[in-house]
Amino acid sequence: MSNNLIIAIDGPAGSGKSTTAKLLAQKLGFLYIDTGAMYRAITYLALRNGIIGDDKKIIELAEKSDIKLDFSEGKTKIFVNGEELTDKIRSIEVNKNVSDVSKIKDLRKILVKKQREMGGKDNGVVMEGRDITTVVFPNADVKIYLTASIDERAKRRAKEFMERGTEVPLDEIKKNLEQRDQIDSSREASPLTKAEDAVEVDTSNITIEKQVDLILKEVKKAAKEKGIQLNIT
Ligand code: C5P
Repeated sequence: MSNNLIIAIDGPAGSGKSTTAKLLAQKLGFLYIDTGAMYRAITYLALRNGIIGDDKKIIELAEKSDIKLDFSEGKTKIFVNGEELTDKIRSIEVNKNVSDVSKIKDLRKILVKKQREMGGKDNGVVMEGRDITTVVFPNADVKIYLTASIDERAKRRAKEFMERGTEVPLDEIKKNLEQRDQIDSSREASPLTKAEDAVEVDTSNITIEKQVDLILKEVKKAAKEKGIQLNIT
């Protein structure tokens, strides 16, 4: 048994995964890995290279991409082959294409391998995405499935766009979220689904502090079972 703790969080877009996972990682002094950012980075580069729809080229692109996630002071920066893509991966164009790119089986294999390598390194990791509890780390010490109503999720995304200086109509955001949910949950390779043994947390009507507290309780339980001393700040 390894002596690091793996906390796996899955859920649809806007369910509060990133905010919750980041705060948890900060409190615990763990590594935070946003796997969605990795799929987004490949999507952004595929768009830039004009290879959307060409699965073979996208797989080649992923093989050549050295992806680095740098999490510090509550923010994740993403670099591919040394180029920073942090803001570029959050565009509407990327949002529209990312779920189709993420369907490519061999691309997923490449990224899952990287995610397992990243997660096994530190003293602890909080990793979030769509298939972390089911495929990447099915034996994670803590498995969480976050949900929230579609209206609440759309409101959160609209706020994020506003904070980055772009106003996107709520309807457009809602449509994109529904489309992504549909593709992410029905795809053949690693669909988004709640693992049987994951703890489900509906975040529609609770504060972020409460979300973090609920998960922290599970983390403390898992740490105790493994005899790991946590250093919570
Ligand atoms: O989490 P985020 O919304 O940034 O993820 C963007 C997209 O990346 C998702 O809609 C999904 O299509 C894909 N994704 C995935 N598997 C993951 C993380 C994200 O397929 N582990």
